[in-house]
Amino acid sequence: MPQPWAGHIVEGRTTVLGRHHPTRHRGTLLIHAGRGPELTGVPLPRPAIRRFGGFVAVAELIGCHPADGPCAPVPPASRWHWELARIRPLSRSVSARGRPGLWRPTNEQIRLIERQEPLWWPCL
Ligand SMILES: [Zn+2]
Repeated sequence: MPQPWAGHIVEGRTTVLGRHHPTRHRGTLLIHAGRGPELTGVPLPRPAIRRFGGFVAVAELIGCHPADGPCAPVPPASRWHWELARIRPLSRSVSARGRPGLWRPTNEQIRLIERQEPLWWPCL
């Protein structure tokens, strides 16, 4: 997603992400900051986390609902709200070219992310 939204998630300013489409995906979601240009007219995150062109955080996607609930307004303006939890910023961003929609990172990108933050947990 474009900056500064990715930075807002990293900073914990929001746990709700505005998207144009709903999703059935639940579980790990990697937050990717686009190369730019940065959107204007919204507050900027701290310079240290204004990173571009890579993964910047690991989160859990725990729900999705139409954008007509009490949590509006959620940036960016959109029809669906994706609910995030357990947002863990990466101390170093992992370079990746963004794509539209949900997409799979390469095995090498996953390896670099897992060095900083384990992506999978055992459960009972
Ligand atoms: Zn909402």
